[in-house]
Amino acid sequence: MASSIPNHSLLQLSHVQQIYTSGQRRFTALQDVNLVVSEGEFVALLGPSGCGKSTLLRIITGLQKPSEGIVLYRGQPLKGVNPHATIVFQTFALFPWLTVFENVDLALKARGIPANIRTLRSLDLIDRVGLDGFETAYPRELSGGMRQKVGFARAMAVEPELLCLDEPFSALDVLSAESLRGELMELWTGGSIPTKAILMVSHNIEETVLMADRIVVMDKEPGRIIAEVRVEIPHPRQRKSDEFQRVVDEVYGMLAGQTQAEAVELGTAPGEQGRTRALPKIAISDLAGLLEYLAELPENRQDIYRLPEELKVDPSHVLSLTEAAEMLGFAYVEKGDITLTPLGETFAEASIQARKEIFATRIRRLPLMRWLIAMLTHAENHVLDREVIHTALELEFPQEEAEKQLDTLINWGRYAELISYNDDKALIYLETLS
Ligand code: ADP
Repeated sequence: MASSIPNHSLLQLSHVQQIYTSGQRRFTALQDVNLVVSEGEFVALLGPSGCGKSTLLRIITGLQKPSEGIVLYRGQPLKGVNPHATIVFQTFALFPWLTVFENVDLALKARGIPANIRTLRSLDLIDRVGLDGFETAYPRELSGGMRQKVGFARAMAVEPELLCLDEPFSALDVLSAESLRGELMELWTGGSIPTKAILMVSHNIEETVLMADRIVVMDKEPGRIIAEVRVEIPHPRQRKSDEFQRVVDEVYGMLAGQTQAEAVELGTAPGEQGRTRALPKIAISDLAGLLEYLAELPENRQDIYRLPEELKVDPSHVLSLTEAAEMLGFAYVEKGDITLTPLGETFAEASIQARKEIFATRIRRLPLMRWLIAMLTHAENHVLDREVIHTALELEFPQEEAEKQLDTLINWGRYAELISYNDDKALIYLETLS
């Protein structure tokens, strides 16, 4: 379909296949990957570990030749390492014996740029990533976020047309990651770097919605593209805006393989027509344990009847856990097997904070949680007496069950940092949205 590709396409992959063989075993790491990255685009690759993201980046940068298929760069077949592309890795290897300035300068020196031009350019790059004043510092004197900034400055010193980012923020703490994302977006959207396109591998759904113009969703076994989502929200994007949340939900839905039937299954909220579905009474740590266990298995699947023995929990609890996993889109149950969805796998692999974010997005759509949050949003000072909610729930459930449902709502909501609860005063608060 080369004729339908616009002229400004920078990178074009057609029917790319990567097979790895070890002994007798043939393993398809990438199956029929078709992807075009055009000038001006920021594209994110999202998917669970093992879906071939790193393999794809190596193929795109020319570090590896695919078993089959065509890789074109500016319309020409890629031969050897792509001189127009650079990768920024999760943790950037800086030379510990060189200062910030010398680390950046070295990248320019490697490109054969004369010393008099280098100095000015290095200083300018250091300034642009926000490290002004740290030119003479050594890597050991810098925080993780600052070291990663030196990494960005070095990558940009090469002035790559195609900047490839391999989970560049995942090793940083929450605040440094967010500020570095903001700084990169400023450089990119402000047009102050010569980079023509960015391709970022990520595990973090919200991060891709925050930054990318297009999200390419991948799945594994075999590694392949399963969907694409365009994000048309103007920058700077607001995480709390309805538009942002709508796209986040859409991407989650794709990873969870969401179907129409699932929405029906969720039931309705109290006061609405229809059945209010009770929440399975499980601890989140147990649910995480189940997902982590499944993530370790081949094909991420297990017979449900084997779970009680494997996980050392009683059968009725296993049923509550599988119900919760299904309700949240982390797994599906078919013919007596439970199988993780890509979303469940993403959760199992995520950091504590990312797990909370995934969990929050999933439970916000449960009718009971939606209802509780709406009640709190409209309450004076966003706080309600436990008793008020309890009374309302008693119209839907028998008394003891109402009590348990409320406990579960509070536990889940607290974990997701959507609500907080004061035990002594029996008050439920809405966490303030910043
Ligand atoms: P991701 O970056 O999405 O985690 P990778 O590209 O690293 O995925 O790997 C995709 C799959 O290919 C994995 O199952 C991995 O074990 C396998 N794989 C990667 N590199 C090799 C290799 N050189 N030889 C054999 N198998 C490999």
